[in-house]
Amino acid sequence: MMRQYELIDRVSSYEPQADEELLNRAYVFATQKHGDQKRASGDPYFSHPVEVAGILTDLRLDCASIATALLHDTIEDTDTNFDEIKSLFGAEIADLVNGVTKLSMLELSSEGSAQAENFRKLLLATANDVRILLVKLADRLHNMRTLHFISSEDKRRRIAQETLDIYAPLAGRMGMQAFREELEDLSFGQLNKSARDTLQDRLAELVAESGDMLNEIAYEFSTLLIEKGLHAKVYGRQKRPFSIWRKIQHKALSLEQLSDIFGYRVIVKDEDACYQALGVLHQAYRCVPGRYKDYISTAKVNGYRSLHTTVIGPNNQRVEIQIRTEQMNDVAENGVAAHWAYKEARGKALSGSDIQPFTWLQEMVAQIRTGETAEEFMENTKLELFTDQVFCFTPKGRLIALPSGATALDFAYAVHTDIGNKCTGVRINGLNLPFRTSPKNGDEIEVICDKNQLPTEAWLHHAKTGKARAAIRQALRESQQAAYAELGQNMLKSIFDSEDKVLSKPVLERALGVLKYATLSELYADVGRGELGAAEVLMAVFPQRRRRGRRAALAGAMRALIGAPGRRRRLDNVAVPVNGALYGTAVKVAENCFPLPGDDIVGIVTMGEGVVIYPRAAAILENYENQRERWVSMHWDDEGNHRRDQLFSSRLQMTAVNRTGALSAITQTIADFDANILNLAITQRNDDFCDLKIDIEVRDVDHVTQLIDALKGSSVVSFVSRVLFE
Ligand code: MN
Repeated sequence: MMRQYELIDRVSSYEPQADEELLNRAYVFATQKHGDQKRASGDPYFSHPVEVAGILTDLRLDCASIATALLHDTIEDTDTNFDEIKSLFGAEIADLVNGVTKLSMLELSSEGSAQAENFRKLLLATANDVRILLVKLADRLHNMRTLHFISSEDKRRRIAQETLDIYAPLAGRMGMQAFREELEDLSFGQLNKSARDTLQDRLAELVAESGDMLNEIAYEFSTLLIEKGLHAKVYGRQKRPFSIWRKIQHKALSLEQLSDIFGYRVIVKDEDACYQALGVLHQAYRCVPGRYKDYISTAKVNGYRSLHTTVIGPNNQRVEIQIRTEQMNDVAENGVAAHWAYKEARGKALSGSDIQPFTWLQEMVAQIRTGETAEEFMENTKLELFTDQVFCFTPKGRLIALPSGATALDFAYAVHTDIGNKCTGVRINGLNLPFRTSPKNGDEIEVICDKNQLPTEAWLHHAKTGKARAAIRQALRESQQAAYAELGQNMLKSIFDSEDKVLSKPVLERALGVLKYATLSELYADVGRGELGAAEVLMAVFPQRRRRGRRAALAGAMRALIGAPGRRRRLDNVAVPVNGALYGTAVKVAENCFPLPGDDIVGIVTMGEGVVIYPRAAAILENYENQRERWVSMHWDDEGNHRRDQLFSSRLQMTAVNRTGALSAITQTIADFDANILNLAITQRNDDFCDLKIDIEVRDVDHVTQLIDALKGSSVVSFVSRVLFE
């Protein structure tokens, strides 16, 4: 464990004006408070905050951060409290310690409202002072370094996963690559030890094979640069096992196929020298097209600056090179933390270009200054930390992480597949919204369910996550199968009835073998889908009945289906595949046909689609004149009895007077009749008249007829009629 004076020495080495008295007091206070508490390793507990403080001295953080590191677990784990810390160490340190405590509470509560609440605190604390996050990351790093002392494997895995999911990416976003790599590798070693060991061994072999190549190439580069008068530090580095692992997973490559296991870093004195060095290297070696990136003129959001290129280097090897200054390198390794180091640098005022890389931090600080509310914070800066994820909450406070761009429907499926399947809409922060809405960080989402809801094809456009899409496809398959089976069963019943035969299970099961079906429901579904003729089933069951001729029998049977007196089948909700539809998606209206309840209709059994509905007057029916066995007579539900809230598409064509206000008079009339406009197109227009095509939703023929009468009475309409089919 680091001694008190060692820690103070380290701080003084980079900050001569350090408040040693304050650091001493913090050290002693924490020692006393933690008393004889022990770590899982058996070490005195106090060794942990001291090590965390030590990690932060490597980042050259200010005195307040170091004191915070020493005190970071006292509020949570000892009998002290915020007020005591404040009275002893001042408001700044007390606020920082409090902030770290809040972040730690997030880890303690894996479920429930406490977690949601604490996650919000994490976000807010982040925005308050970036030093809270730095202490938290150092805390996590030390915990990960000592993770192997924890005996429960479950707990070790949970902590490692959380580190990989939240803290390593967080360090990355803050530009702290050194932290990120170490956190990732420690987690990787816990979560997939065998993969990590294998990679480590293979890397060692590769290094052995290539001998001293790493140093030789570095030497060649630096000699070349010195010849051109550029003094540069050049060193070769090997990628960490986890970043190689991620690349192998991501790009499905083998280790041997990776060209960039080794990389080189060229450190020069200033920005100009970066571009000069690039020029020298590009002159000497062929550069690989598309690999050159200039992050000096355009820094990354987190302040990262560097030139990247890949060249065909010595021995015809592809070689990745990063060129940067010492300071850029410090920022690349330590990110936001480097800002504090430079800010605290003695006797050196910050110049504009020194601050410039830290736009992320600058923006954050600017927002704090403008005094935005907590909610506005959440929407703005600090959430850039988690740009590839959106965090939302259930009303009970369960935290759900979604990929960015996901919708509330994805949220519903993430909560539970059944919740997703029954989702009709959502309430986001109390506001009713469609489920295609993309939630924002911190949103509380209540899923509104209806037990009659069923997923439709359209849902696939609104779901982004694999889980939701797979569940929707599964539900679609199931409901479609059920709908076809129901339709098929009714079709069979009607052909059997027409032959005065009774359709019973035992009778049908006799035919299963002949027709090569395993179950009745599969057989029903194929009949409904039009892939197995109802007559074939009839003949398989009663092979002797052939004398009436197949076509005549079929035509009779089909006509009998639904239409026969006293056995009238009802098809309510025809063609509108919504909740409770009798045949659901197995029955649909033909394209460009607009039959309404009250119109004469006919169904055509269509291969793979079930029954397609046409208005009896549709011209296209002539094409089926020779295939009467495919015709299914159909009726709407008894007129006037269909559900009043069931709406059907209807198309109107009209000619209107071409003058200002005509269109608004027409749409007003339509609205007066409670008919929703789906689409409106002007098909032709001259000085006096224009032709319109309007798609509307109505209840039935009466409804649309009354509307047409009203439109005819309007002074701006000179012609209007229904389009039944096109
Ligand atoms: Mn701790």
